[in-house]
Amino acid sequence: MNDFILVINSGSSSLKFAVLAQRGQDVILEGIAQRLGSADASIDFKFNNKKESHLLEVGSHQGALARIKSWFDQHPDVTQNLIGIGHRVVHGGETFSHSVIIDDNTVTAIEACSSLAPLHNPANVKGIKACHTLFPTLPQVAVFDTAFHQTLQQVQYLYPIPMHFYRDQTLRKYGFHGTSYRYISQALGHLDRNTLQQGIVVAHLGNGASVCAIQNTESVDTSMGLTPLDGLMMGTRSGSIDPMILSFMAKSEEKSLDECLNILNKESGLLGISELSNDCRTLEDAMKAGDERAKLALDMFCSHTAKNIASCATSLNSFEHLVFTGGIGENSVYVRAQVCKSLAIFGIKLDQQANTSLTRGQANLISKGSAEQSVWVIPTNEELMIALDTINLIQD
Ligand code: ADP
Repeated sequence: MNDFILVINSGSSSLKFAVLAQRGQDVILEGIAQRLGSADASIDFKFNNKKESHLLEVGSHQGALARIKSWFDQHPDVTQNLIGIGHRVVHGGETFSHSVIIDDNTVTAIEACSSLAPLHNPANVKGIKACHTLFPTLPQVAVFDTAFHQTLQQVQYLYPIPMHFYRDQTLRKYGFHGTSYRYISQALGHLDRNTLQQGIVVAHLGNGASVCAIQNTESVDTSMGLTPLDGLMMGTRSGSIDPMILSFMAKSEEKSLDECLNILNKESGLLGISELSNDCRTLEDAMKAGDERAKLALDMFCSHTAKNIASCATSLNSFEHLVFTGGIGENSVYVRAQVCKSLAIFGIKLDQQANTSLTRGQANLISKGSAEQSVWVIPTNEELMIALDTINLIQD
């Protein structure tokens, strides 16, 4: 009997899923349902190195999960080993500082956090409720993006606005990508036990991007805030900007607040500056072909990342390690080189050769031996953390 965990990441219009075995080490099944809520919603399964795609008759979260359930019905060899379901939940507010087994009270509490993540939490709850109906005997666990950052001190998490906004509405910095940061902290600890007492800054650079300062395995500061719009420039998000820009945008183009926020969330960042793409790889190709604006967008991204790393590092007692992760952090030689160049003032020295010749799928040290900080590239694995939390909680 193996311990298989179904991991569900239910987003606003997509639902990613995976079945992990051997305490998360083996990926048995993975897939994604996309364009949920539209007429051409589809679902992909990858099993035994074979990919199959289907249009979804019912293009909702429930429809996608019902299709996943019928896949399990056709694969009893997998289903008989399933012992639990782990859900990624975006916002746990101040209620959740750890992963929890889901019961009715948990669902109510996740719903109560929906005002803080109106696009994400309702989709997470849909996934949880559908799984409860389709797999009534399997225990479910919620793993929160925000939980790892609940160790932040008030001096870091409060915004300098009137206190009643925090008292009455818990408006504060929460931070995201917490499951990734927890994974990286543990992975670094496995490589070098000394890191468990040291100061680390992790840059999780993907389409969404943030940085986190970790001291003694706890988050002490992070760049995302009340929402994932805060912090550094991202694929389509602006990151932190002068809030007065909203007022100018609204007045000059007669836009509503929601329309302006949509611009900051969906039309800004790498896409807004390059006017070409939000995708780092596409921009690097364009830059190599001489596109000046693609270069400007990438250089701004690198500069914002370096500034956020430097800012977060001020919350550490000491700064021994810098880790790059996420799709851009793990793959972009250019971004890592530019970010480290801007951080040379801290004593960071990149080994150019190591930066260009990484071994994929494992941790790589890319700094010079003489440098004050070790610089690492470590592939993140949020699904593994969700599977492990699920196993640990349901077998407790
Ligand atoms: P998210 O999970 O936030 O959607 P990912 O962590 O998957 O994002 O990262 C996606 C980003 O990684 C994209 O901008 C993509 O272009 C970038 N990326 C992936 N591979 C490469 C590569 N080889 N070189 C540069 N950027 C890459």
